[in-house]
Amino acid sequence: MNGTFRVGNLFGIPFYINPSWFLVLGLVTWQYGGALAALFPTLGPVAPWILGLFTALLLFASVIAHELGHSWVAIKQGIGVKSISLFLFGGLANLDRESKTPAEAFWVAIAGPLVSILLSGLLTAIGIGAGLTGPAAAIVQLLASINLALALFNLIPGLPLDGGNILKAIVWKITGNPYKGIIFASRVGQIIGWIAIATGIFGSTWNLIIGWFLLQNAGQSAQSAKIQNQLAGLTAADAVTPGSPIVSQELSLREFANNYLIGNTQSLRRYLVTDDAGQLVGAIETDDLKAIPTGNWPSVQVKELLKAIEFSATVEPELSLLEVVTLFEQLKVQELPVIRDNGVLLGLVEKTEIVRLLEKRALGNPA
Ligand SMILES: [Zn+2]
Repeated sequence: MNGTFRVGNLFGIPFYINPSWFLVLGLVTWQYGGALAALFPTLGPVAPWILGLFTALLLFASVIAHELGHSWVAIKQGIGVKSISLFLFGGLANLDRESKTPAEAFWVAIAGPLVSILLSGLLTAIGIGAGLTGPAAAIVQLLASINLALALFNLIPGLPLDGGNILKAIVWKITGNPYKGIIFASRVGQIIGWIAIATGIFGSTWNLIIGWFLLQNAGQSAQSAKIQNQLAGLTAADAVTPGSPIVSQELSLREFANNYLIGNTQSLRRYLVTDDAGQLVGAIETDDLKAIPTGNWPSVQVKELLKAIEFSATVEPELSLLEVVTLFEQLKVQELPVIRDNGVLLGLVEKTEIVRLLEKRALGNPA
């Protein structure tokens, strides 16, 4: 969200605008102002442009109402809304997590288009019911069709559009796997993107831009769903660094050096230390050995150089890597100790090792 800046709150949700939006606001004002001036010459030279700006602002209010629709249903499900942003192509409600069930995901996705359809119907009813004429009638009619277009465009069944999210929820419901839903809906989004580009080459520039937008974003969601699906199928135990750097506190420094440091090209700065029962008691830093004369190493134990070690959390071996990665993000850490039910330390799970594991699997399984 480069360059996006905050302009306030909407019902307590931070509201952001991308600078590109001002360009679009200008273009839309120019287009509507021009159309009104041509339709109603009696308006004079200035009024059409003010009405054009007013209509353009109402257009964006419609986009915001659509995003508030998604947000409201999400909040009802206990999902936080981090922000609502206006971009070149409309809006985005940034939710802090996904829905927990396909039915809930379905309702979050469809809420936006439902609000747009409702607004379109309401505006049409007002236009007819109030017997509006002249520029007022034209503006209300225009806004009604804009809201209808907003609903229909967003219902295109490819990610990242709402229709794609609806499709995702349906495939999720059928297969029981949310990532399969995302991958399927992303593929459909890519196909629609290609069709839009193909038709755009012979016709509308908008199709070209929308096609490009769909391809960009659908490809990304498919990629990240694939990774999430893999992570969900692996556990912390799968990613424990092989030969995790664990030593017993009963070892002498001599044994420690012989077994772990000498001749080991990959010796580390720090080793985790366990007691007789295999429980984590602290860490030893290899640099600290320098303070002890080599001659004394056989009579000094690792536990005498023990340093306290703090981890913000520990993980169970059965925890899925998807949850481990989420934990890494939440705690802003790179590694966590994996500890069995009985308190025995299994090793460390590290970000770099998870990446290596995914790379290895990607090579072994190109599909
Ligand atoms: Zn939407």
